Amino acid sequence: MNACPECAGELKYDPSQRRYVCKSCGLALNRDEIDELKSKYGASTPEEEKEKMKKDYLKWWSTKK
Ligand SMILES: [Zn+2]
Repeated sequence: MNACPECAGELKYDPSQRRYVCKSCGLALNRDEIDELKSKYGASTPEEEKEKMKKDYLKWWSTKK
């Protein structure tokens, strides 16, 4: 199920608008917009997270000395 990118409310498909409408805040989005927002708000992959953590650790390690 899709969650609203604004308020994390439930998105319900409205066939008359051919859009997903948020039950909580009323935001209406089509599929493309949902995908776009999801990538914008950084649903980063676990691999990317791991890389970031490794870099942070190395930074910490190098400043420690
Ligand atoms: Zn919402």
